[in-house]
Amino acid sequence: MKSNKLRYGVIGHPITHSLSPKIHQAFAEQLNIQLQYDAIDIKPSEFEQQLTELKQQGYCGFNITVPFKEMAYQLSSQKSTYADIAQAVNTIYFEDQTVVGDNTDGIGFLRDLTINQQFSLLNKRILLLGAGGAARSILLPFIESCGAHIHIANRTVEKADKLAKQCSNQAVISISDFEQIPNENFDLVINATSYSITNDQNNFPQHIFLNNHFFYDLVYNLKSVTPFLQLAKQHGAKKLIDGLGMLIEQAAESFFIWHQIRPETKHMIETLKNKEI
Ligand code: NAP
Repeated sequence: MKSNKLRYGVIGHPITHSLSPKIHQAFAEQLNIQLQYDAIDIKPSEFEQQLTELKQQGYCGFNITVPFKEMAYQLSSQKSTYADIAQAVNTIYFEDQTVVGDNTDGIGFLRDLTINQQFSLLNKRILLLGAGGAARSILLPFIESCGAHIHIANRTVEKADKLAKQCSNQAVISISDFEQIPNENFDLVINATSYSITNDQNNFPQHIFLNNHFFYDLVYNLKSVTPFLQLAKQHGAKKLIDGLGMLIEQAAESFFIWHQIRPETKHMIETLKNKEI
């Protein structure tokens, strides 16, 4: 018998550890929406074909995760400005034949930082480490909502340069590699590198840990402190936030795009922090 539930899902490879199905089901229960939300593993070479088939099966939209965000951007026929700057899409939905692509990572980060963490961006100096997809996703929503001065540092400085040029008409942005990061105080240090996943060699200069006390790592770890936050902790950092709140807030924003209603997130963040689901 065909279910009359709305069908959504998250597509990635691998996808078994994704928290998105639990998060979206919990949002749906909270708002009394009948929803089916699946974790779908697709081989990278089959992404386009499978997406078409899933649409034909009646899915209304998807979250897109590693390694498909850039591919989803290419396949979207209509894209938001946030998706354009990020060159990556984490949320899609279908309007007849149109695949609409958006990126909610930046809004998710911003909501976690400013609402959940109560951090005011006014006149702050921010150090952003990384210039990959996640850094590209957070930069525009971030600078739209503040007059902050942002220094972007990346291992490959050319990527930081390209990103800064895309947004330089809207904010004061300086760039460097890690070695040339100014030896001064920042109000917030954001780690948007994948160092906490790879946990390999890093060349973050020590002074960024000695000079600063508020560190936000986009990577989250439900079991322990992320490797980047461990580095900061060893140097005496006072405030350490990982990407769990961002994950839940970006999911809430996708939920809002699909269902035009915003779920409450605080309870979910606490529940996941306490590993209750
Ligand atoms: P990406 O596009 O592959 O970019 C990786 C970035 O990390 C690049 O800037 C890269 O520098 C840098 N990097 C890699 N290894 C490094 C190391 N050992 N030391 C210093 N820099 C290093 O990945 P992404 O999509 O931006 O994702 C970055 C992280 O954000 C991921 O680990 C992901 O888990 C996290 N994220 C979290 C959320 C959330 O909801 N919480 C959402 C999105 C992403 P080069 O350019 O020089 O290679």
